[in-house]
Amino acid sequence: MSRDLVLLADAADFAARRHVAQRRKGEAAEPYVNHLTEVAALLAGATDGVDIVLLLGGLLHDTLEDTDTTYEDLAERFGPEVAALVAEVTDDKSLPKEMRKRLQIEKTPAKSRRAKLLKLADKTSNLRGLVRSPPAGWSRERLRDYVGWAEAVVASCRGLNATLEIAFDAAHAEARAHYGSGEN
Ligand code: ZN
Repeated sequence: MSRDLVLLADAADFAARRHVAQRRKGEAAEPYVNHLTEVAALLAGATDGVDIVLLLGGLLHDTLEDTDTTYEDLAERFGPEVAALVAEVTDDKSLPKEMRKRLQIEKTPAKSRRAKLLKLADKTSNLRGLVRSPPAGWSRERLRDYVGWAEAVVASCRGLNATLEIAFDAAHAEARAHYGSGEN
């Protein structure tokens, strides 16, 4: 148990350092680490904090995609399960953005339970951010498309954790109320 707490504190510190220069896309330009701690807190609250790999994955989920952290860095420091989970939710940045978005919809159904829970929390945080602080320069249509896309990605993540689904659905309903759905 105490080893888990040490790992959790280390992951929070690691993520904060790795993402230190990054800001969220919204107008408020919140520090990126706020997104990571929000995702980890959503996961912890929804699962009673019983799965340390999941919580570490929540804090570290964007390190491979958005920083120069390597799979080996994560495996060495936080263990192979955490590294594998982060890799599972990492997009291939060599692909064009539209293809990456389509692949998220297509590939999520085959992902692990942990990866699906992480996706649910990640999209919840992103939709909340979109409402609280929409990115400057995003058209209403782009915002609406994002809301519809987030719903499509998490469609295959349902039936695993009611608390996370309720949080996602609330964020999604609020975003839809602001920007409309992807279908209209
Ligand atoms: Zn994220």
